[in-house]
Amino acid sequence: MPLDLPRLAAWLRCPVCAADLEPVDRLTLGCANGHRHDVNKRGFISLLGGGSKHLGDTAEMLDARDRVLEGGAYSPIAAAVAAAVTGAHIVDAGAGTGYYLRGALAGSPDATGLAMDLSPQAVARAVRSSERVDGLVADTWRPLPVRSDLVDAVLDVFAPRNLPEFHRVLRPAGLLVVVVPRADHLASLRATGTMLDIPSDKADDVIHAAEPLYALQTREPVAYDLPLTDDLRTSLVGMGPSARHAAADGAPDLDVDTTRVSVDVLTLARR
Ligand SMILES: [Zn+2]
Repeated sequence: MPLDLPRLAAWLRCPVCAADLEPVDRLTLGCANGHRHDVNKRGFISLLGGGSKHLGDTAEMLDARDRVLEGGAYSPIAAAVAAAVTGAHIVDAGAGTGYYLRGALAGSPDATGLAMDLSPQAVARAVRSSERVDGLVADTWRPLPVRSDLVDAVLDVFAPRNLPEFHRVLRPAGLLVVVVPRADHLASLRATGTMLDIPSDKADDVIHAAEPLYALQTREPVAYDLPLTDDLRTSLVGMGPSARHAAADGAPDLDVDTTRVSVDVLTLARR
């Protein structure tokens, strides 16, 4: 699909000097201070800068994630996220292949989305998946190359959170929608020892950390039993951070036929 360079640029600011980025030629964005940034031919831009120490998802992890998500295993989570989101400019931080962002856009016909992820392969897939998705390779832990006071909603689904930077890019009263696992999320799979423990990343901790910058609007638990096929078991393990560690051990022994999906969906309004 054709790359909409003005639309891509309209999200972005220069990672060097923070001035707005504008198209300067067919595959270049630039700022008023002369900094130039190449756009990837596949339709997204990398503004990672140097020094990022974090690893993006591998192609194998993305394939596993696609199989789980496109198969509908987490569709109730996507529906809850989509129901929470409003507005014309939606950023998905840690978007992966854009599954939750596409769901949010489906409910907002005039909205466009920015899929932000550390993995260029993930962002390429997200951009390819929808004409209404622009793509940015960036590190959530660093200052975001996104304009201030622009965004109507930031999605953060099982992804790192940079609460001050999300606050800066959100417009006043814009929404931060966060999905965090509850303690029993995928518990039967974790009990088999094939997945690393989910970080003790509880909704209460997020709400507390966000309190100076965001007001909690809603906290919606989403929980259900998910029947497991062999493929789904393997993919659920393969999509997560444990995949890097599990690969060396060969095929995991997963003798469970259902697992509990259990998350909190938080909607926080920018103060
Ligand atoms: Zn600049």
